[in-house]
Amino acid sequence: MKVLSVAGYHHTGKTTLCVNIIKELRRRGYSVASIKDIHAENFTMEKEGSNSWKHWQASQNVVIARGLKETCQIWHQHLSLNEMLARLDADWVIVEGMKTAALPRIICAESASQLDELVNGMVFAISGKWADNHTEYNGLPVFSSQKGIPTLVNLIEEKVFDVLPQAEPDCCGHCGLDCHRMVAAILAGTRTRDECVTDRHTGMQLQVNGKEITIVPFVQNIIRDTMLALIKNLKGVETGTIKLTIHPDEK
Ligand code: SF4
Repeated sequence: MKVLSVAGYHHTGKTTLCVNIIKELRRRGYSVASIKDIHAENFTMEKEGSNSWKHWQASQNVVIARGLKETCQIWHQHLSLNEMLARLDADWVIVEGMKTAALPRIICAESASQLDELVNGMVFAISGKWADNHTEYNGLPVFSSQKGIPTLVNLIEEKVFDVLPQAEPDCCGHCGLDCHRMVAAILAGTRTRDECVTDRHTGMQLQVNGKEITIVPFVQNIIRDTMLALIKNLKGVETGTIKLTIHPDEK
């Protein structure tokens, strides 16, 4: 799954650009999902006092609200990028916002000072209002969010790669970098996507309180070897997909 982010301050043209990129990718035959990161502190799609809200009050868990034309799955919590991506099935995911995630990024801006603040090694193109009167920023190409879309999507197809695991910097580093610096290095052409070591160990998934945790390769190996050795010695149990759930408070 290829994932990119379109980031920048409010009212710089991010949504227009996302919509036009999504349309062009779909025109090229791809399936596209999107994430809109919303910063309004009181944002909620739920209505206090609604029936689905009452379900949540009772269960304190995920609620599915099904209508004739729409089904909404409501988590009353802030999900991580990995948790959201795990629930999506598409060739491409366009994220509006999330300017700190380890993703290849397009910045929308309306001034050079915004670009000076937001552009870093993970940025491969510039757009938004600033693009109306400029063609280049510090060597990065600039694209109009209206007229430049086919050329921009050519660049997106060339530059954007399968999403990295988004490991916490102090949890991995097995490629010699962290995920953010790896994104920058791949875009710069000094590293390649298949140099992400952790990615090759995808046969294990760890969740703690529903939150997905990235496990570094040597820990994956220890857990895998221990579990397989244990199960091999259990009478009448064949190995296959193994699921272990631990409730630490229950003995
Ligand atoms: S090995 Fe992969 S997951 Fe680990 S820091 Fe490098 S890019 Fe990130």
